[in-house]
Amino acid sequence: MSEGAPVAATDPGTPGRRLVTAELLSIGTELTVGETRDTNAAEVARGLTEDGVSVQRIEALPDDLAVVCTAFAESFTRVDLVVTTGGLGPTPDDLTREAIAELCGEEPIVDRALEGWLRELWARRGMEFPESNLKQAWLIPSSTPIPNPNGTAPGWWVDRPDGRVIVALPGPPREMRPMWDGWVRPRLRDRELGTKLDIRTLRLFGIGESQAAERLGEAVLGTPNPVVATYARHDAVDVRIAAAPDPARGLSAADVASAAEATVLERLGEHVWSRGATTWAEAIGSELEALGWSLATVETGTGGSLATLAAGRAEFGRGESRQARDGDPDAVAAAARRTSGADVAGAVRAAERGADTAVSVAVATAADVHRERRMAFLGGQEGRRRAGLTAAAVLLRQLRRRTGGRAVR
Ligand code: ATP
Ligand code: MG
Repeated sequence: MSEGAPVAATDPGTPGRRLVTAELLSIGTELTVGETRDTNAAEVARGLTEDGVSVQRIEALPDDLAVVCTAFAESFTRVDLVVTTGGLGPTPDDLTREAIAELCGEEPIVDRALEGWLRELWARRGMEFPESNLKQAWLIPSSTPIPNPNGTAPGWWVDRPDGRVIVALPGPPREMRPMWDGWVRPRLRDRELGTKLDIRTLRLFGIGESQAAERLGEAVLGTPNPVVATYARHDAVDVRIAAAPDPARGLSAADVASAAEATVLERLGEHVWSRGATTWAEAIGSELEALGWSLATVETGTGGSLATLAAGRAEFGRGESRQARDGDPDAVAAAARRTSGADVAGAVRAAERGADTAVSVAVATAADVHRERRMAFLGGQEGRRRAGLTAAAVLLRQLRRRTGGRAVR
């Protein structure tokens, strides 16, 4: 179902309470039996954290009224804001509305405007309206409907007398996401929230997480503000800086973050290849765009991991070719560039050496061929994956040399 959910008649009530802490409830048995992965809560948590609301707990719950009611009641002894996703469907097992009504001690009533909108959706398609769907037109006196442009389940924004807030959103991510980003977040920001953080992530390659942590040291990693932490991801080691203002020293969140960032760059700068959530494909792609260049890749022994990393960027990717296996990477890269007509070609050859993987990378341009040999940690599939990362790092560095080393954004 789509389009034209009615705009809320009333907007959320006046600010009563600073919303500093939150808990997220992901409702649906498909989550607790492991059929569906809870991506909704992660998205909501990320948004709240950015906006300065501290998420204290994320809980997945089955479609069980008693369990959901208890969870609501408990969350409200702890935090200012509860955001739920799921359980807003028309079927008897969708009971988020019932649980909120019970928590508030209010009776759901059918809202005529919502009912009209729902009936219209069915009428427009020449279908009979299933009366069970009437549930999706329910409101309680303290709820404001949140329009759902992509489905039949409006959300609820509920203001409690003590200023706490409940936000209930539907489970399907394509319905939940626009409601969260487009409707809920702006209204939350109209409230007094916790402290807005300045969050920055530096992405590293060529250093392990523990080594990175060691170089940063306790003095950097152990402070309450900024919070600096390292994360081993599949494509990078991330250093995340989350900074709050420091009024005692007259510093804004940005000041605190910048000082920490300078320290991280000083200690690990040579390993930083990107920022935020930038992927290898995006980083390589933006350099290629800046140069107006096309890319060809040839690899052997990597399981095609370079082409996978550069997904959509290597116009002339070639997998495991005999030529690549037998030839010298320099010659292979140069030949690949010539035969494909690409502006730049990367050739990588990986072979297990002892417990690790030896990697040869060559990057050929019209001007020259650059060649590097490195060792990637571990053998087997993990070694092949890391060989691809190594090749991507060499390629990116070579491209950046041409773009004037616009370094890391
Ligand atoms: P509907 O109106 O579609 O019934 P709903 O609000 O009742 O929406 P659910 O029935 O709980 O939502 O979930 C519908 C679908 O949304 C699930 O089958 C699942 O695919 C997806 N979904 C639900 N919860 C989550 C979640 N936390 N993360 C990701 N996807 C989810
Ligand atoms: Mg449902």
